[in-house]
Amino acid sequence: LTQRIAGEGASAWNIHFRAKARQARGEDVIILSVGDPDFDTPPSIVDAAVDSLRRGVTHYADVQGKQALRERIAAYHRAHGGQPETSADHVAVLAGAQCGLYATAQCLLDPGDEVIIPEPAYVTYEAVVQSTGAVPVWVSLPPDEGFQPRPADIEAAITPRTKAILINSPHNPTGQCLTPAMWETIATLCRKHDLWLIVDAVYADLIFDGEHLSPDSLPGMAERTVVISSLSKSHAMTGWRLGWVVGPRPLMAHLVNLALCMLYGCQPFIQDAAIAAFDAPPAALDMMRETYRQRRDAVVDTLRDSETVATLPPAAGMFMMIDIRATGLSTHAFADRLLDEHGVSVLAGEAFGASAAGFVRLSLTVDADRLREACRRIERCAQECQGESRLAARPLD
Ligand code: PMP
Ligand code: GLN
Repeated sequence: LTQRIAGEGASAWNIHFRAKARQARGEDVIILSVGDPDFDTPPSIVDAAVDSLRRGVTHYADVQGKQALRERIAAYHRAHGGQPETSADHVAVLAGAQCGLYATAQCLLDPGDEVIIPEPAYVTYEAVVQSTGAVPVWVSLPPDEGFQPRPADIEAAITPRTKAILINSPHNPTGQCLTPAMWETIATLCRKHDLWLIVDAVYADLIFDGEHLSPDSLPGMAERTVVISSLSKSHAMTGWRLGWVVGPRPLMAHLVNLALCMLYGCQPFIQDAAIAAFDAPPAALDMMRETYRQRRDAVVDTLRDSETVATLPPAAGMFMMIDIRATGLSTHAFADRLLDEHGVSVLAGEAFGASAAGFVRLSLTVDADRLREACRRIERCAQECQGESRLAARPLD
């Protein structure tokens, strides 16, 4: 087997599957280890898919995506601070943001190219980049600076082989957003060194404070920026697999060629459901965003006085990082113990990169009362670990 597909991606969610198995056996387990909304897809979206199926919309679709859907995605992109000239021609519909990332990598990267990726990073990026023969070049997001990128570190990582910078904002796992000034700085680097900017914006609709900026609207960036997003998180549609790529026309032509041999167009009835999602009133999305915000606040409140763990409140999204450095354990060891002895599943920060080694990621995907209970268990587990570490470190009398 090729090693190009190997990476943390394959094993990162093992703990999640263990937690699910225990829950299925009737054990009291609070599962906070996956980013899957605990909401149902809004009914008008489901109805649109069912209607479409009943009308026999079951044949091959336009490989680039239905025109009506691409028009809505282009309008959405413009409304989210994207390039004002974006039209349906700049959009390709693919099976989820993950497929969009993979297809974009195949269309942009050659063997030996380098892609700069701030880490911690979403776990699939490594294998996505490596699958093309290109090499991920990790640049640390310093935890004690709120996991914000340092432009000097990014610039120092640029070599003649660098082809692209891959930025995920709002960010999984930290929930942090790039500031407009940081986007400007990164855009300047891309222009100066003639690089592509690949943007993963799947959480752009779940920003609690502030607005999303799309760097393709910055001067000289439209021809070198690719923005990837989906309905998975914004509309609780993870299982529908509907996402898209917005980028310059030559890249679109390439993506369509790739989609021809990989996908042959997304399911047309799911595209109809996606049209209904864009046409739906914003109430459902507003409710989900507000609920995640309240859950974030519930975690912050519950752990506020902890002397063992600290929270890093996210500005967006559905994840939160908990600083467990005081326990003295690796995050894999802490996550295992938390599940085995306290019935809470979280992901180890190490799964996302070395810079998150002192943190675990929890998902805000259970109600606030369950989250408070999970926090109490996290605190108990952390105190036990800290006590044991101190004991072990004590010099013998
Ligand atoms: N990028 C990031 C940062 C993610 O967290 C996820 C998972 N939702 C994806 C991409 C993949 O999204 P999708 O479900 O649309 O494929
Ligand atoms: N993006 C989600 C996460 O980070 C879910 C991905 C998955 O289930 N593979 O947990």
